[in-house]
Amino acid sequence: RRMPPIISVSHLSKTYGSGLKALNDVNLDIERGEIFALLGPNGAGKTTLISIICGIANPSAGTVSVDGHDNIKDYRAARSMIGLVPQELHTDAFESVWATVSYSRGLFGKPANPAYIEKILRDLSLWDRRDSRIMTLSGGMKRRVMIAKALSHEPQILFLDEPTAGVDVELRKGMWDVVRTLRDAGVTIILTTHYIEEAEEMADRIGVINKGEIILVERKAELIQKLGKKRMTLHLV
Ligand code: ATP
Repeated sequence: RRMPPIISVSHLSKTYGSGLKALNDVNLDIERGEIFALLGPNGAGKTTLISIICGIANPSAGTVSVDGHDNIKDYRAARSMIGLVPQELHTDAFESVWATVSYSRGLFGKPANPAYIEKILRDLSLWDRRDSRIMTLSGGMKRRVMIAKALSHEPQILFLDEPTAGVDVELRKGMWDVVRTLRDAGVTIILTTHYIEEAEEMADRIGVINKGEIILVERKAELIQKLGKKRMTLHLV
């Protein structure tokens, strides 16, 4: 028997005060253990969708269930299941890598677990820099610290909002490896991207979002086949 989806989004809409419809009747299921890429251009509604699923923002209509919990009514029940890496860096330049990640775990009221923190820092190739202050790290390392922070409380679901925006090709590949390592460890991953190559490289399934509507959800291989020559047009939207 198939497991129920870990996340289920139903008839979700969001209209901002300006009257702008950022999301229009979005329906989406995320399967346990998959890497799902939300692919779309600037302003498509990716960040809005993620923040509503995570329980940070309210929708105008619709429901979100996370592991069976109504995440609109009360996000707290599923809060510790979710890790979120926003687009912007949120770290203290003065703190060390180790302190940043352990402190983040403490915010969830979880007992200290140095062995687990060591494991994620090793997975993210940050172990050698555990005592470095955040300010002294490269941009790619700072992004990995953000991921380590988001993983500090051992979430089952990880959201990555444009993890490779403004990142050079080498670092982008490193990020892809990191995401696959996490998936292999059993984490369900939802990421957003502007790049079709990136979605194809990383995801098991891809959802294309444009102007607040999900216009296509496919397994990767089928999407590549379907798009064929239209692929380039999509890339340029
Ligand atoms: P990007 O790739 O640039 O991050 P996105 O796909 O994440 O874009 P959103 O940030 O969700 O898109 O924005 C969707 C639409 O909603 C855009 O037109 C944006 O200007 C608008 N929007 C987002 N946040 C707000 C807000 N707080 N108030 C009003 N409009 C907003």
